[in-house]
Amino acid sequence: MTGRLRQNLIYGGALTLGFMVSIAASWTSLGVKLDNAAYDWMFVLHPPKPWQPQSILLVIDEQSFSASGGVPGLRKALAETLDRIRPASPRAVAIDVTLADETDPASDLRLEAALRATPNLVLACDLLPNGKGWEDPVPRFKRWAAAIGHVHADPDRLDAITRAIPLEKVAGHDRRWALALEAFRVSRKEFIVESPKDLQVGNVSIPSPQRDGHPMRIRYRPPELEPIPRVSLKQIRDEPALASQFSGKVVFAGITAQMGNQDKLMTPLSDGLNMPGVEIHANAFETIAQQMFLTTAPAWTVISFCAALAAAAGLAFALLAGWQANALAVLLLLTAHALPFLLFGKGTVFPTAAPVSAAWISIVIAAAWRQFVVRRRLATSENQRVRYQEAMHFVTHEMRTPLTAIQGSSELMSRYAMPEEKRKQIAELINSESKRLGRMIEMFLNVERLSAGQMELKQEDFSPRELISICMERARPLADRKQIRMFMEATPEDTIRGDRELMEYAFYNLLTNAIKYSPPQTEVRVFGMRSGERVRIAVKDQGIGMDQKEVRQVFQKFYRTRRAEQSGEVGTGIGLSIVEQIVTQHGGAISVESRPGIGSCFTVDLPVRVTQAFAPARF
Ligand code: ADP
Repeated sequence: MTGRLRQNLIYGGALTLGFMVSIAASWTSLGVKLDNAAYDWMFVLHPPKPWQPQSILLVIDEQSFSASGGVPGLRKALAETLDRIRPASPRAVAIDVTLADETDPASDLRLEAALRATPNLVLACDLLPNGKGWEDPVPRFKRWAAAIGHVHADPDRLDAITRAIPLEKVAGHDRRWALALEAFRVSRKEFIVESPKDLQVGNVSIPSPQRDGHPMRIRYRPPELEPIPRVSLKQIRDEPALASQFSGKVVFAGITAQMGNQDKLMTPLSDGLNMPGVEIHANAFETIAQQMFLTTAPAWTVISFCAALAAAAGLAFALLAGWQANALAVLLLLTAHALPFLLFGKGTVFPTAAPVSAAWISIVIAAAWRQFVVRRRLATSENQRVRYQEAMHFVTHEMRTPLTAIQGSSELMSRYAMPEEKRKQIAELINSESKRLGRMIEMFLNVERLSAGQMELKQEDFSPRELISICMERARPLADRKQIRMFMEATPEDTIRGDRELMEYAFYNLLTNAIKYSPPQTEVRVFGMRSGERVRIAVKDQGIGMDQKEVRQVFQKFYRTRRAEQSGEVGTGIGLSIVEQIVTQHGGAISVESRPGIGSCFTVDLPVRVTQAFAPARF
C-alpha cells in the first residue's frame, strides 16, 4: 500500500469515526437535551398562523370547587352545568375526569341523567397504576359515552415537558385513542382509519407513525393570541347566559383547582408555569382541527445529512486552498445550525444535535489533519533539502580526490624532468583517475535521467551469476578490512537482458551496503532462486538492520536511517534510490526484510531472458 493511499484511508477512517461519534452523541441524554432546547426555542420563534379556537374549556376551578361544596358536590355541579350548556348545542363534550367509581347514589343518578342527555359525549379513561389495563368509567356512565379516550400525556423523561402525546395507547389487551382525537372524531361524526404512517379522520390526515404509538406533537396556542376560552362551573351558575359561548364548540371539561394539581404539566411555552391536563387536551384537539402538524424528519435523512456534512468537510480540507476550505467550513457550520430552524418553519422537526456535532467534529478532524499533513510535508521537504546539501558536499568531496590527484600529477610532469618509467606511471594514474571522475559524473547524470525516464537502457544479455561474482571481487577488499565473510550460494544460471553496467552498479551497491552496515566478523550471503519466469537474487547480511518504518522509506532519495548515521559510515542515501530505479526499469522489483540488530535481506526480482538448463537452488 502506498503511503498516500494509507494516509487517505486513515483520513477517511477518522472522518467516519467522527461521524459515528456525532450520531451516537445525539442519542445520549446530553444530545437529547440539546435537541429539546432547540425544539422549544424554535417552537417559540415559529408560531403557527393565528386561528379561531374550535374548543372551549369548562373548568372546575377553586371557586367552583368551594361553591359546589367540595368533592362530594362535584358530580351534581357538573351535571347541572352540562344541563345548562346543552341548549347551546356544543359539537362534542369531552370530560377529563375519570368517573371510575360510584359515590353518593343521588349525585351519581343526577350525573347519569345529565350524561345520558349529552350528545357526542366522550369520557376519559386512565391507565391502571400497574399499567396492565384501563381504569374506565363505571358502566352506568360509560354506556352513555360515544367514545372513551385515554388521558395519558407523555412528558419527556429528561425534562418533564409535554411536547407530544401518544394518539394511541395500548394497555393489557385494550388500546384506546387519545381523548382529544376521540373528541375530534365524535365532533365530525367520522371514523379513525389507521395506516403505518398516519391516522385518517374524515379528510384530515394526521402524520404520525404507527410504530411509536402514533405520537403527535402539540402546537400549543401561542401566548400572543387570545387563550382558548375558559368558563368555570361557578361562572355558568352565576351567569347562565355564558352558556351561549359553548355553541358549536368542542367542550373540554376538567379540573384546574389546586386539589387536582397532579394533573398539571409543563409545555414548551409554559416558562415554569404548569398547564392543566384539560387544557393540554384542548390544545391537542386544536392541533388536529387546524391541521398544524409538526412531523419528524425520517432518521435516514438525518444520517445522510450528517454523512454529507462530514464528507464535505473532509473534501474541503483535502482539496481546497486554506481560505477556501475555511470559508466552506463556516458555510457547513451555518448550514448545520440553520437547517433545523428553516425546516421547523416548514413543519418538519429536524434534530439539531446530530448535524451540529457532525459538522463541528468533522471540521475539527479535517482541519487538524490538514495541519498535521502540511507540517509533515514541510518537515519532509526540509529534510530532503538538508540531505541534498549533504549529498552535494559528499559528491564534491568525492570528486575532489581524483581531481587533486590529476592536478598534482600533471604539475609534477610539467615541472620536473623524470625517467620514462615514472612518467608512464604518472600518466596511467592521471588516466585512471580521470576515468573514475568521468564515471562518477556519468553515474550522477544517469540517475537524474533515469528518474526523469529519459534514459535508454542498453540491451545486452548477461548472466547475473557472473555479474555478482564480479561485484563480489570488487567489494572483497572492503569486506576483508572488516573481516566479513562474503560468499555466494546457489544462483540459477539464467540470462537477463538489460543494461549490464547499471545492473552491476545496483548489485555492487547492495553488497557494499551490506558490508558497510554490518559489524566486523559477520557474514554476507548472496543467493538466488528461479521462480517461474523470474529470478530472485538476495543479498543478506547480519548487520545493524532497520525497523519497519525505516524499511518503508529506505528507497527515498537521500534517506538514511538513524542507525546508519550513528554507525559512522559515510553515505548519501542516494544509492538505494538509484538501485530501485535500475531494477524497475528492467521490469523487476526490489524488496527488503530487516530487523534491527539482526540483519537485512535485500531481494531483487527480475524477469529472465531465456529459459536455459536450470540448476535448482540448493538451500
Ligand atoms: P548510503 O549512501 O547512505 O549507504 P543508500 O541509498 O545506499 O545510501 O542506503 C540508504 C540507507 O538505507 C542507508 O543510509 C542505510 O540507512 C540503509 N541501508 C541500506 N542498506 C542497508 C543494510 N544492508 N543494512 C542496514 N541499513 C541499510
